[in-house]
Amino acid sequence: MTVALITGVTGQDGSYLAELLLAGGYEVHGLTRDPGEQVTPGVVAHRVDLGAGGEVGDVLRSVRPDEVYNLAAVSSVFQSWQDPLTTGRINGLAVAEMLAAVREIGDVRFVQASSAEIFGAADESPQTERTAIRPTSPYGAAKAYAHGLVGAYRAAGMFASSVILYNHESPRRPATFVTRKITQAAALIAAGRQERLELGNLSARRDWGWAPDYVDALHRAAVADEPGDFVIATGVAHSVEDFVRVAFERAGIADWRDRIDTSEGLLRPGDAAEQAGDATRARTTLGWAPTKDFDDIVASMVDADLALVRD
Ligand code: GDP
Repeated sequence: MTVALITGVTGQDGSYLAELLLAGGYEVHGLTRDPGEQVTPGVVAHRVDLGAGGEVGDVLRSVRPDEVYNLAAVSSVFQSWQDPLTTGRINGLAVAEMLAAVREIGDVRFVQASSAEIFGAADESPQTERTAIRPTSPYGAAKAYAHGLVGAYRAAGMFASSVILYNHESPRRPATFVTRKITQAAALIAAGRQERLELGNLSARRDWGWAPDYVDALHRAAVADEPGDFVIATGVAHSVEDFVRVAFERAGIADWRDRIDTSEGLLRPGDAAEQAGDATRARTTLGWAPTKDFDDIVASMVDADLALVRD
């Protein structure tokens, strides 16, 4: 039986990946932060504080997985400005600890959830695996360090890949992310339980994909013939305002423009104007392709939130 270890197993991506691997007959171990966290049934949970140092190496040495998926992170760019130190420890230093342990164990395939944020305010669009790495947030800087480490261990002979994920959404996205914040508000406003929605930068353009597709890419990278860096993106960017319009229209709210307030407090330093990724390498070498477009993603999320509000 193939043994996988997923850090961040309770998050959006971790839960989808655990389901995918369990369905594929894997033995799945997952790292959790808090004792009360809900873990996908069938996953063997290990409680580890990745920020503390020392613990993840011990778990890796005792589980001896065939595949490691590093999804644990301070996952929001906004939060990384509130706590850059924890972001550096978890998104950056913890990866050094994992790679050192994996190298010692040997014969492990390591897949890093890298991020479009490593490119920061890129001067080319769409971005590829060859775009200059120039982060503009503590989140992006820590992910860039981890990205560099994975490249260094790969050059030293390890099967280590960085999958450069663009924003990817689902009904499991927490409302700290703008997409879920919008779809939750649309459902509540449609039900007459909320009046207005406050947002930050409405003109930011992001390449939003469907989270289960992105998790499938992580798995494809793990079982590929060769390790490498792979951009995972749809190639199409939309603005936050586009997301609001499509979501509110789906929820049956015609006067959506009049429902939105903007707040200076929700703006971020260094917020990239546009992110869009070119996934040609993943398409050709991993056989990967997205299954849902922007309108499908928004509709799935709004419909799930409308159902929750009705319950
Ligand atoms: P992340 O930037 O990858 O962590 O994803 P988010 O969903 O948090 O943010 C995506 C984009 O939406 C960024 O450009 C944000 O500046 C923008 N945005 C605009 N208003 C909001 C808001 O109220 N909350 C969040 N989270 N993002 C917002």
